[in-house]
Amino acid sequence: MKKYNIRHCPYCDAELNKGVIQAGQRIAWTPKVSNFVAEPTWKKDAVRLSKQGYVAMNYVDAYICERCKFVEIDYSD
Ligand SMILES: [Zn+2]
Repeated sequence: MKKYNIRHCPYCDAELNKGVIQAGQRIAWTPKVSNFVAEPTWKKDAVRLSKQGYVAMNYVDAYICERCKFVEIDYSD
């Protein structure tokens, strides 16, 4: 995926602020919430988004527009 230095909000066109989403366990996209699986990447249809850093610190690059409450996640790395 091509990396863009500046990303813009699709709703208000303001510049998105770069940061990370960080969690104590792996971060995954899933089609729906499961009440039975504590680790989201165990689901067969899960897409793992986070890379793992030190001591179970999982994170993924993300861009935020606080005005629109919009977050864009880039898990291409
Ligand atoms: Zn916005």
